[in-house]
Amino acid sequence: MVSLTRQMIEIRSILNKISSSMGSTITLPSIVVIGSQSSGKSSVLESIVGKDFLPKGANMVTRRPIELTLINTSEEDIEENMQVSTNKSIFKKKILANECSDYLIDIPQLRQFNISDFNQVKKLLVDLNLQVPSTDFISEEPIELIIKSPKVPDLQLIDLPGYIQIESVNQPVELKTKIRNLCDKYLQKPNIILAISSADVDLANSTALQAARKADPKGERTLGVITKVDLVKPESARGILLNKNYPLKMGYVGVINKQSSELDYFKKFKQYFDGCQYSNKKLRKKLINILENTMSKELKPTFIKLQQELDDTKYRFKVEYNDRQLTPRTHLSSQIDILKLSVKELQELFSRNELKSVLRQELDQELLNILSTNYWKDLENENLKNLIINEESSSDQYWHKNVELASSTLTKLGIGRISTSIVTNAIMSEINNILFVLQPDSFKTNGFLYSLVNDIAIKVLNKKYYTTADQVENCIKPFKYEVDIEQREWEDSKKNSVLLLKEELKQVNNKKNELKNIIGESMGNKQIHQLVQFIKQEKHRLVDESSNNRYDGGFSTSMLQLGRNLISLENRERLLKFRLKYISGKQCRDQKSMDKCPEIYLKAINEKLISTAVLFLNIELLSDFFYNFPIELDKEVNKLSNEDVEMFAKQDSNINKHIELQKKKDLLELAINKMNNMLIYERINKK
Ligand code: GDP
Repeated sequence: MVSLTRQMIEIRSILNKISSSMGSTITLPSIVVIGSQSSGKSSVLESIVGKDFLPKGANMVTRRPIELTLINTSEEDIEENMQVSTNKSIFKKKILANECSDYLIDIPQLRQFNISDFNQVKKLLVDLNLQVPSTDFISEEPIELIIKSPKVPDLQLIDLPGYIQIESVNQPVELKTKIRNLCDKYLQKPNIILAISSADVDLANSTALQAARKADPKGERTLGVITKVDLVKPESARGILLNKNYPLKMGYVGVINKQSSELDYFKKFKQYFDGCQYSNKKLRKKLINILENTMSKELKPTFIKLQQELDDTKYRFKVEYNDRQLTPRTHLSSQIDILKLSVKELQELFSRNELKSVLRQELDQELLNILSTNYWKDLENENLKNLIINEESSSDQYWHKNVELASSTLTKLGIGRISTSIVTNAIMSEINNILFVLQPDSFKTNGFLYSLVNDIAIKVLNKKYYTTADQVENCIKPFKYEVDIEQREWEDSKKNSVLLLKEELKQVNNKKNELKNIIGESMGNKQIHQLVQFIKQEKHRLVDESSNNRYDGGFSTSMLQLGRNLISLENRERLLKFRLKYISGKQCRDQKSMDKCPEIYLKAINEKLISTAVLFLNIELLSDFFYNFPIELDKEVNKLSNEDVEMFAKQDSNINKHIELQKKKDLLELAINKMNNMLIYERINKK
């Protein structure tokens, strides 16, 4: 039969889970240990546990309470846990052979379970202590330490930091308040106070007893422990243990924590200790009894309080959430379902035609860049000039070579990688749009769902990235050598290139107007013309050619630069207008005229490249993505730990409130069920 204390410890830990996050005030009693530094407090705790487990040393300042839960387990339990934690490794036998193996320690805050090495425990405790910055002095948040062993009783003790018991004169005010709050919190009813004082220090000066007296003036909840009994004469020890100045209902227990001397000492001076309580064994027994009695007394009142709280919670759950069940997992699942559905809908967005237009947007820009570099650089180009003035006199060779060069640049751009990147980027950006719509309030680019979904999408896309790029590149290879354009394609391309140039012309025009506005705002519209005129004649105005000093005409350097930009845009505009007129004309009737109509020719090639790329992007990349993404997503979501899922749900404050209330309800129900069983058992036993 599991002890009452053990069951109450379980219930207490359930209630702790509620109170920490949902402001419940119901708590069960525990034993709070206080004692100034060097009073022998650590020795007492370690003697109860039967092991050295507390970090010691001069600079070891405890900044947080330690909530020590001792669980009496059978040896089989320990072995079973060891097997799980070492996963049946070859080290299992070694660890089992080790003397530490009959103790297993959990530190839930660090998610460390079944530790069998006490040195590691000490190290982790130091780490947890150091998490409290020294400027904060102390923290009220306890460190949880669970020790499971056949050698410990079921017991729960809270070890308060040694130096905080009582305020000393030269402590900063802030620390004093913190200490007072901590003491108020831990030493209040129904907790039991274990006040540790050393026999060789006058009890009137015992800081532990002073603090205990303040919280429990009638001495009803305090058990005194007198350590280092061996350091005083037996008759004085007797006087201390029967202390009349601060009488305690549960009395004082004398202990000696020097190795092996306790038994001898009390045997030797037995006659002095008649009617006294002494030895660690006695202390342990008393603690077990006290805790069990106190817990048992609290059982009924706590049960009633819990039921009231459950009624309130149930009512709120009904009113606020219409009894709708929600857990972090179900919340995540529903979000993932919506996400998957939206991604499925994306498939339509990436239909062949849509895909083409996505690619076209980018590749037309590349085309314009090539045209600009190869043809539209400057109006002074003789061949262009001649073409403007008289078509016949421009060099056929120039035009032929240039079209070869431009088409070669276009087909060797690396369309494979470019198009694959365009599509993958487009997918990623669409997915992030979906995520944004999904969590408009808690959308963060470092958020949990964002990282998860992005990582998976990238992973799935990456798997196919290089093969797709290679496939596309292979398939456009023939265009690097020769491109055949049918008349129908030529006609289409002619229309398209006219549209493209018109669009480009519009952009240039916009830019030009923008620039004019800037210049006009800065020096007045009338000046624009003067500025332009000045720059056009600038080269004739060199004051001193060798020093490169130019006459600035009264315009600032930045204005001169803007003016130059304006002129080049005007030139570009003029050229584009000319090209537009030219390619619309009869001169560009078919592929034979491609040399002097490169815009049409290159645009036709571009369309071929785009169609080919789309074909393989569809087969290689997209169909794979839309098939595998939901599968991978499910896989990863299933792998998520409960903590991660909970963290995700908590990002949304409404969902968080809903989940928390439900959790509170569930935990209360669980605690009440357990208590109910205990009460039934108690009733049967009384009969
Ligand atoms: P804490 O600072 O209150 O945790 O005290 P410790 O348990 O670390 O003990 C302080 C010192 O007192 C250590 O050097 C212990 O060895 C010593 N000590 C603890 N208990 C006894 C005891 O019963 N008798 C004697 N003689 N020394 C003790």
